[in-house]
Amino acid sequence: MQRRKLVVGNWKMHGVAADLAEALAIAEAASAFEQVDVGLCLPATLIERAARALPRLHIGSQDLHHADKGAHTGCVCAAMLLDAGASMAIVGHSERRQAQSENDEEVRAKAEAGLGAALAVILCVGESLDVREAGEAVATVQRQLDASLPRDNSVGKLSIAYEPIWAIGSGRTATCEDIGEMHVALRQRLVAAFGDAGEGVRILYGGSVKAANAAEIFSVDDVDGALVGGASLKAADFVPIIEAAARAG
Ligand code: PEP
Repeated sequence: MQRRKLVVGNWKMHGVAADLAEALAIAEAASAFEQVDVGLCLPATLIERAARALPRLHIGSQDLHHADKGAHTGCVCAAMLLDAGASMAIVGHSERRQAQSENDEEVRAKAEAGLGAALAVILCVGESLDVREAGEAVATVQRQLDASLPRDNSVGKLSIAYEPIWAIGSGRTATCEDIGEMHVALRQRLVAAFGDAGEGVRILYGGSVKAANAAEIFSVDDVDGALVGGASLKAADFVPIIEAAARAG
């Protein structure tokens, strides 16, 4: 099945108002590639300004709380993100799974909250280096996906990001064979969970994607786009990745 490519930047804890010039340059360049969906998941402090200034780009958050509201100091819920103009959210990024001890159940609740509010949700899964070296990557990540998938929402706006933890920010990428094997294995689990609708869920790769390796990664079957950290901060680095996605079709 042909799925539109989705390329999303994750700015993590980088960016103040002055950096919106880069987001603007990305938005302007992205408009030349209408066949690709492009998003930027920004620090919460920039979402409203970016959404106002860049209406044609999908602006998103890097997390959300699963509850509608309540006594959750420092947290942001789906309704607040929508109110600020966000249209997407990342959930289950490995940096949050590790540093904030988020487990699969919590990630699932966040995914359900985001989808229930009509946000596009990018649900991240991925294995550690130890797991990969023990030959348990596929089984581990399949289990993680099964446990993190939403149970009760339409999956129309769900995407999965396969992000091997050891490839994030390290300059190391998984081989095309490993990426292909994992994406096929994740597709099987999506179809098992959602039937035909599972075929429509985009599976992105993330982990040191850059201009130099994007075309090769996008040539792998079942790679429907990329979640990009470091190389999304500057238009000069990010736009060639969008262009590679457009070329891959
Ligand atoms: C990420 O944090 O989601 C990511 C893929 O980072 P990087 O591209 O810097 O490896």
